[in-house]
Amino acid sequence: MNQAVRDPALDQRKKRRLLLAAIACFAGVLCLGLGLSVADAKKQYGKTAHGKSTAENAKGKKSKKSGSLARAKAKALAKAKLAARSRKGRNGVATTASAEPPSPPARDYFGKQTAAAPIAARSIGSYVRGCLAGGQMLPVNGPAWQAMRLSRNRNWGHPRLVDYVEKLATDVQSKDKWPGLLVGDMAQPMGGPMTSGHASHQIGLDADIWLKPMPPKTLTPEERESISADSVVAADQVSINPEIWQPGHVQLLKRAASYPDVARIFVHPAIKKALCEAAGTDRHWLSKVRPWWGHNYHFHVRLSCPPGMETCEDQAAPGSDDGCGKELAGWLKRMKTPIIPKDPPVQKAPITMAQLPAECSKLVGYVPPPPASPVPMGPPLPERKPDGKAAVTSVSAPAPAAKPAP
Ligand SMILES: [Zn+2]
Repeated sequence: MNQAVRDPALDQRKKRRLLLAAIACFAGVLCLGLGLSVADAKKQYGKTAHGKSTAENAKGKKSKKSGSLARAKAKALAKAKLAARSRKGRNGVATTASAEPPSPPARDYFGKQTAAAPIAARSIGSYVRGCLAGGQMLPVNGPAWQAMRLSRNRNWGHPRLVDYVEKLATDVQSKDKWPGLLVGDMAQPMGGPMTSGHASHQIGLDADIWLKPMPPKTLTPEERESISADSVVAADQVSINPEIWQPGHVQLLKRAASYPDVARIFVHPAIKKALCEAAGTDRHWLSKVRPWWGHNYHFHVRLSCPPGMETCEDQAAPGSDDGCGKELAGWLKRMKTPIIPKDPPVQKAPITMAQLPAECSKLVGYVPPPPASPVPMGPPLPERKPDGKAAVTSVSAPAPAAKPAP
């Protein structure tokens, strides 16, 4: 029977290897720990105007090094994720390097439409990803309204929206003694993403209405371009300006929210606060009036999808809470916090034709390029001969690149 003989030299080599492994492991844990602590500090203290976290500024060279290590790690991870995503097809199946043909910005197509699609009226898609068939133009002048910024050609909407604006205008004038409405952006003739401003307003169910009362004269086209709206919000951003705000504004917004097909009214948080304070015991309409950024010159009306319109994507109902408690407090706190611009500023990628419902492409006559034929990720690995040398294999020519979109 053979018995293993212990070799003292072998034991020494094993011990040394174990020691080295332990040192490497400790260093790794330390680096990871420092990286995490920088990330935690960033979360807690935020960033300074120069894009550095306050915690980073306070730490010395050592933490800078570990911070850059953590950043490098995050970068590498993001790069790997991006590479993995580019290898995946629409269904997440790894197929080709460029199976998705490029798609042009949708605003380039919808922004140049001058007339509605002459078919039955239909809102297609969601408020932020969609288009409008059979749009109707709000007349630029009515008995109780005037459309503004006519050069933009955005006084279009689903017929229900046009009806709504006309009814609200005549109701506030006759019942609430409001002089009449100045109507801002509604939708483009075929809806869709706009060439400037607005993430929504795409399916003909959104309208901006100025908080400035209509003047007692018909404005000229030039005046409709140059007259500016008045902000009703004070410089502190959490209260209204009493010199501009009037009790009639409360009545106007209450009336605007009162119709059953209204899904939401968006206003500046300071306006919501003023409404909460003025509402008294009749508060049910307040749940539809929601705070949102940038609504200090105008309010934004959003109608629900017309009943039975399957192509239209509604948003969830607002619920019964009047929104004057916790939600409003959160908004007012946010308004007091100074916004530090991102360095460099983040540019959002425009919505492409491929991101809209397919019907929207048909509406504007855009023909998407055919899907590119699958392109293998790289040449197949050469087969190995039993002697380890690579066998000569033929490499297939790459498939032609996808046809560029017009
Ligand atoms: Zn709006």
